[in-house]
Amino acid sequence: MDLRFLGGAGEVGRSAILVNDRLLLDYGMKSGNPPQFPVDADPESVVVSHGHLDHVGTIPALLSGADRPPIHWTPPTQELALTLARDTLKLHGRSPHCPFTENDVKRVTEVSQTHGYRETFEAAGYEVTFFRAGHIPGSAHVLVDDGDTRLLYTGDFHVDEEAAADPPAGFDAGEPPVGQRLVKGSIARPDADVVLCESTYSDVDHDPRASVEHRFAQSVKTTLWEGGTVVVPAFAIGRTQEMLMICEAHDIPCYVDGMGKEVTEMLRRHPEFVRDPAALRRAKSHARFVTGRDGQRETGGLAGRTGRAGPSRGQRKRITDQKAAIITTSGMLSGGPAMTYIPEIRANPVNKITMTGYQVEGTPGRDLLETGRAEIDGRVMPVSAQVEAYDFSAHADHGGIRRFLDSYDDAEVLVNHGDRCGAFAAELRADGYDASAPELGATYSV
Ligand SMILES: [Zn+2]
Repeated sequence: MDLRFLGGAGEVGRSAILVNDRLLLDYGMKSGNPPQFPVDADPESVVVSHGHLDHVGTIPALLSGADRPPIHWTPPTQELALTLARDTLKLHGRSPHCPFTENDVKRVTEVSQTHGYRETFEAAGYEVTFFRAGHIPGSAHVLVDDGDTRLLYTGDFHVDEEAAADPPAGFDAGEPPVGQRLVKGSIARPDADVVLCESTYSDVDHDPRASVEHRFAQSVKTTLWEGGTVVVPAFAIGRTQEMLMICEAHDIPCYVDGMGKEVTEMLRRHPEFVRDPAALRRAKSHARFVTGRDGQRETGGLAGRTGRAGPSRGQRKRITDQKAAIITTSGMLSGGPAMTYIPEIRANPVNKITMTGYQVEGTPGRDLLETGRAEIDGRVMPVSAQVEAYDFSAHADHGGIRRFLDSYDDAEVLVNHGDRCGAFAAELRADGYDASAPELGATYSV
């Protein structure tokens, strides 16, 4: 089996792996200005691990010519891919950087084939099976069997903690979580000869989930008691829903705004892909969705194009007086309704901004954490509000990846999707694994 790395080797973003020049695994996009895309591909068939931009972002471009390769994914991944594609058109549709058109996006549904976990299907002549990866709803490990070699592509994954940690003193949110509230961690360990493994957090050990949650909840509650407002920037897919569930569990009043609203609605239609559908339902009714009740039309955006009324700037400003947590996109402060909320609350040191995910270098979120100021909506502004960061990662940490790989000590391990793939491969080799870190553009025979 030949694996060619069209993107995502030694980097996070634009994941794309071509198997024997026929089967494409993921076709992502690295956001930024300008965005970056994988090497061109002309596959017979496409299999997608999950609905994050760096894994699905460039998929519609595969349909811009005469070819119509079938695209295989889980039902939530398909919906997320379409949501992201429309958002990309909104952001970059008029620029030469956009690799696809509205027509290409429309063709996606024509070639889409959805599959559940553990249902083997055929793609480009291979037997392919999805297993729950525990990263976001619908995320999958992908097993590809050519009758001779079995390749397990982990996609992005998360594993639950081995045992519940002792809850921190005063933890008052029921059973302490052992992982993400939104999705159960990965447990499937199908036999494989080759494992292509993500390594985003291969050099990090996350704190126990219960203690991260507890610190977050206490901090937010303290600010609300003091009469402040907390803005919680969160990625739309996965993180927004996780934060809604945490707010409900800890009885924190909250609003939700941005693309995370429609993703939450969508996930309610796929209860089999979340850990506890009843808890997600409670979280959704606990939160107040910021909608355009005062009749203003949102300019641009999905709501704008469909003619539905969206929230106005004035409505968002009034919400910042409500002494609540406001969960909103974008997670790295590079756009979205956060552009209205942050300027509104930034000058008062009683208020707080709690970052909930990894902040890529060069993003306003990263600048804010490091310097206390950031370019928000085109204007550099100092921030007097308190700024904190919490590690609510949806990726396995060093211990989690090693526990996963314990089941594959006889397999060949290829390490990708990380900034330090080479170092992690070297660590594995020192422990007796046959491990390496592929390079971008290279072909590996396994
Ligand atoms: Zn991901």
